[in-house]
Amino acid sequence: MSYLLRCITCGEEYEPTETRYTCDKCGDLYGTLEVIYDYENIKIEKEFEPKGSIFQFKDLIPATSHTPIDQSIGGTPLYKFKGLLGFDELMIKFDGISFSSSYKDRASIIAVNKAIECGADTIYCASTGNAASSLALTAAGTALRTVIFVPSTIPKGKLTQLLVAGAEVIPINSTYDEVFSLSLRVGRKKGWYCRNSAINPYLLEGKKTGAYEILIQNDYKVPDYCFVGVGDGTVISGICKGFKEFYDLGLVDSVPIVIGVQSEKAATIKHVFDKGKPYTPIIEPANSVADSISVGNPRDVIKACKYVESTGGHFISVRDDEIIDSIKEMSRSTGIFSEPAGAAPYAGVKKMIRSGELKRTDSVCIVVTGNGLKDTDAVRSGVEVKTYDIDEAEALFL
Ligand SMILES: *Cc1c(COP(=O)(O)O)cnc(C)c1O
Ligand SMILES: [Zn+2]
Repeated sequence: MSYLLRCITCGEEYEPTETRYTCDKCGDLYGTLEVIYDYENIKIEKEFEPKGSIFQFKDLIPATSHTPIDQSIGGTPLYKFKGLLGFDELMIKFDGISFSSSYKDRASIIAVNKAIECGADTIYCASTGNAASSLALTAAGTALRTVIFVPSTIPKGKLTQLLVAGAEVIPINSTYDEVFSLSLRVGRKKGWYCRNSAINPYLLEGKKTGAYEILIQNDYKVPDYCFVGVGDGTVISGICKGFKEFYDLGLVDSVPIVIGVQSEKAATIKHVFDKGKPYTPIIEPANSVADSISVGNPRDVIKACKYVESTGGHFISVRDDEIIDSIKEMSRSTGIFSEPAGAAPYAGVKKMIRSGELKRTDSVCIVVTGNGLKDTDAVRSGVEVKTYDIDEAEALFL
């Protein structure tokens, strides 16, 4: 596969090299890079496996397979529920059953293979939790040393994944945003391979594959809407890019309207988008219960705004209690147990039903990005139980 790297802000094109992460002129926030393929010369037929790995998209993926687990990344299910939330049909793409139980595996596996291709000995990232646990577990079977910077508030399930995977974990008493900046200072000084969202342009190429799969698994019928939880903005950018590439390659004849859902307690990208162009990054406090999207200094804000705009979509925010309620409601009505960030889009769909923006006949897809077992404390209040003695229990069913 051949490709170039292009700055999202100034359009400058760069040859991909091992040390090229962002645009020299525009810096880390404005100068995130897009991977641009030679689309004219890519000939693709509609013959992908609905449950195949992301490596089946070999002309559209900037890495080749070097690890034993590559073939198990991607190919997660797209469920279709009739009558859910009153829709004729509601689709849920569920990445909670991915390798490390989150959508981040799609990006981590690209970073791990890239690091191996570059001959790196160490790979690092800063993460609210899932990027870290995904990196630690996908790199565990390789020769790479893995260094992870996380806020010390990381949920226990995610921390456990890191520690059992043998990563070098640095839990820091600070916010994700500051941990991210620190990790970049250390990683750049040491010359380690970087798996930080937005900085590494190749991550988005993994994250876009969820969109490909939604189209493939829906027989190339394009949903009207796709709802995605948003923190740094890389997942949603990737999903928009994936839809757009299948459109540009002539595999479908439209793209879904993509709606980004944030917590009201961490809605920075929404605020930047609502202010309008030119999109100008801002920094705000963030303290949502949905740790994976609790980001106040989002790193992929420019891409997220531009890509979402190009689909005709926008950003909305929901309350944390609506997110927690959505976890329980979705579990009961579908069996899908999501972590808070993965349930935010469900809460967003409910909000847009209430406002009349969605109709019963719209075809809507929700992307559920993480597994509820990663953060059971978040729903603790809903799962407290009374205990019984044997005879009391028997008496319940007399
Ligand atoms: C990372 C993550 C998101 C959001 O992705 P961004 O690229 O930060 O916007 C959503 N849900 C889960 C479970 C995640 O881990
Ligand atoms: Zn630039």
